[in-house]
Amino acid sequence: MSVRPNSLEARDAASQMHPMVNLRQYEKSGGLIIESGEGIYVKDINGKRYIEAMAGLWSVAVGFNEPRLKEAAIRQMDKLPYYHTFSYKSHAPSIELAEKLLQMAPVPMSKVHFTSSGSEANDLTCKMVWYRSNALGKPEKKKIIGREKGYHGVTIASGSITGLARNHECFDLPLDRMKHTSCPSYVHYGKTGETEDAFTQRLLTELEDLILREGPETVAAFWGEPVMGAGGVLIPPAGYWQGVQAILRKYDILLVADEVICGFGRTGKMFGCETLGIEPDVMVVSKQISSSYMPISAILVNDRFYQPIADESARLGVFGHGFTASGHPVASAVALENLKIIEERDLVGNAARLSAHFAERLAHLAKHTLAHSSRSIGLIGALELAPWEGTATGSAAAAIAAAAEEEGVILRSVGEAICFCPPMIITQSQLDDMFDAVGHALDKVAARRE
Ligand code: PLP
Repeated sequence: MSVRPNSLEARDAASQMHPMVNLRQYEKSGGLIIESGEGIYVKDINGKRYIEAMAGLWSVAVGFNEPRLKEAAIRQMDKLPYYHTFSYKSHAPSIELAEKLLQMAPVPMSKVHFTSSGSEANDLTCKMVWYRSNALGKPEKKKIIGREKGYHGVTIASGSITGLARNHECFDLPLDRMKHTSCPSYVHYGKTGETEDAFTQRLLTELEDLILREGPETVAAFWGEPVMGAGGVLIPPAGYWQGVQAILRKYDILLVADEVICGFGRTGKMFGCETLGIEPDVMVVSKQISSSYMPISAILVNDRFYQPIADESARLGVFGHGFTASGHPVASAVALENLKIIEERDLVGNAARLSAHFAERLAHLAKHTLAHSSRSIGLIGALELAPWEGTATGSAAAAIAAAAEEEGVILRSVGEAICFCPPMIITQSQLDDMFDAVGHALDKVAARRE
């Protein structure tokens, strides 16, 4: 595809450096320009409608034109469009949102700190982990263990905890302090003849060996998404998180749960930690907190985490961190309204109720000649494709994603998987429309390959 001169596509390609694209290819092909949204649908500038099967970037829980969020933003804009939370100042929207999050948290949490993106939240959590170790007189306890295929963002610290080569290559990441342990996806990394239980045990042994090799006194925290999202919707086996937590407790290592995708209902319960039986010291939330209508993220910390940091700030005289937009009043007001909508409309229940149908429809697609298997939990899932011989990894999934777009469904390909994470307001018949269209896309691609 090449872009028409002077079109919006051409102006876009000429003016923007986009994330997560081949920049040279973008110069030539441009991108799909979205103009409006309604419910689970978005429309491009040519009037073509798509089901947004990824809820944007795993984030638009309430759909693309929720009037209550617009009204909440306008009300707050009228009253106080901006104020900060630095230097002994605060404002009601951030206070109310902090209280709401503490009340929703699945385990007792003590304080909330606001940031604007998932990357910032993970980055700052990392800094706070280091600050806390210093405060406790353990300056050597600084290493962080993430997981291969884990995704925690792209800033220097969060990008280092991320375990994806594409986010490290050429950026001089990861930092030395960040280590990675194996990805708990049995379908990808289970060895021939290895049972799922044996796989889980192998991973737990690897984790403990890594901690012992590095020296437990040097390892401060373990980071994980309850269910990995951007790595390709990778669901850990039963017993994995219980085993990980037992090891972390044994060596006094903090657990940070990155709920940026799982949080606020995606897995069929309010938090992924509840679905997977995780009791973290820190929870990082973003995306569905505001349905991404406004950029906002939050870090929830328990007392064990908070107290040494507070003591140290008293000793130093200040907690020397903060962003201009920390707890932004308009973003906070929108997030608060969004959480009310999620609760009032029981969108978590909707995800739980639809999860069996979602899984069935995915399993049906997995019978296609181009497919290998499917996996899902709540309203997040993936269809793994059979790799195409003689082509680069990801060719099959990229071709299906492109064909799905022709059929009016926007999805995401990751490796040889295509991922689904639709808005949580989706209905059963809309799910059927989405899977029917993807079925047609699979048939189309199969026919083209014959
Ligand atoms: N953590 C997880 C689990 C994510 O999925 C993402 C983004 O997809 C991030 C962190 C980074 O968030 P952001 O893109 O807002 O920096």
